[in-house]
Amino acid sequence: MIPIAKPLIGEAEAEAARAAVLSGWLSQGAEVAAFEREFAELVGAPHACAVSNCTTALHLALLAVGIGPGDEVITASHSFIAAANVVRQCGGVPVFVDIEPGGFNIDPSAAAAAITRRTRAILCVHQIGMPCDLAALLAIARAHGIPLVEDAACAIGSQIRLDGRWSAIGGVHGDVVAFSFHPRKVLTTGEGGMLTTRNPDWDADFRRRRQHGMSVSDTVRHASDRVIVETYPVRGYNYRMTDVQAAIGRAQLSRLPGIVVRRRALAERYRELLTGVEGVTAPAEPSWARSNWQSYCVALVDGVDQLALMQAMLDGGVAIRRGIMCAHLEPAYKDHPAPHRLDRSERARDRTVLLPLFAQMTDAEQLRVIEVLADALAALCRPRMRATG
Ligand SMILES: *Cc1c(COP(=O)(O)O)cnc(C)c1O
Repeated sequence: MIPIAKPLIGEAEAEAARAAVLSGWLSQGAEVAAFEREFAELVGAPHACAVSNCTTALHLALLAVGIGPGDEVITASHSFIAAANVVRQCGGVPVFVDIEPGGFNIDPSAAAAAITRRTRAILCVHQIGMPCDLAALLAIARAHGIPLVEDAACAIGSQIRLDGRWSAIGGVHGDVVAFSFHPRKVLTTGEGGMLTTRNPDWDADFRRRRQHGMSVSDTVRHASDRVIVETYPVRGYNYRMTDVQAAIGRAQLSRLPGIVVRRRALAERYRELLTGVEGVTAPAEPSWARSNWQSYCVALVDGVDQLALMQAMLDGGVAIRRGIMCAHLEPAYKDHPAPHRLDRSERARDRTVLLPLFAQMTDAEQLRVIEVLADALAALCRPRMRATG
């Protein structure tokens, strides 16, 4: 069976985790601080703050930009549901807008058209690793004086060209950027998240709130030769990352460049191989974007049944998944207002599938995916062609 994804993780991570355990300091200590420094350097961010996962990262990001009851946050429904949930967790209202034609990211013109007096932020998602049109989104956000929060859960290692210069997603183009280190993402710590920002006050706010709103950190109190009594100036949470996770993350960071090179090579080969397969179209990468290809999402031509294709591929030993979900179509959002048309989002959910892609995937495995896919599509398309003569 060829899986949909597989983390590239091994002895280096196991050894790092073992050393962290044996150090005797297990949560948010020196390893977390080192992981933050190395992460900030890698993406080119002034500040990086580690947290327990990307959902908690997004929560802290929205609190920092001031989202509260009744505030509208413009975002895509066609995304993992966590971002919309977090807006609601702040008491805010996710205002769903459609995705762009020919891609899976938020449509900047739809975002601009959705701005009202109550809009307090735009929350864009670099969907499955593909950078959003940040040039357009930043222009809109700046023109209206509202912050741009980037959900970069899947986008570690992706790059964008802005003003003629390539830079990493997270090198802080918008106001805050949130990453995930879940095993389905390109870099993993089991569970984990990171926030990058240029704003030192927000970074300080993240650090307080991730630790119950406490005025000083454990490491500062531990290292002090004077008694320090902490205070709790703000309401906080327990969103800490452990030192075991951070140690794994540091080992993963050194693998990241190689992982991204391999994923990009596999994506390029998929594109070439798919030109010979009828029934699907390969995803496009804009000239100003370099995706880490966290997922490889292909569109089905009309007449190909999505679930039947998934079953046929599973029968052939290849695990594929349906396209990205739409939050507004889930029961949890049944009573949520949907003032904007989301036709492209709904179509993308129902008319796409994700193909296996992971750094260890061999060329032979990739060829096998294409063979099984081509056979399945031929079988699924045949009855239709017979019917039409
Ligand atoms: C995975 C994902 C999240 C959630 O990340 P966790 O670390 O699991 O909380 C949020 N947004 C998007 C777009 C994701 O893909």
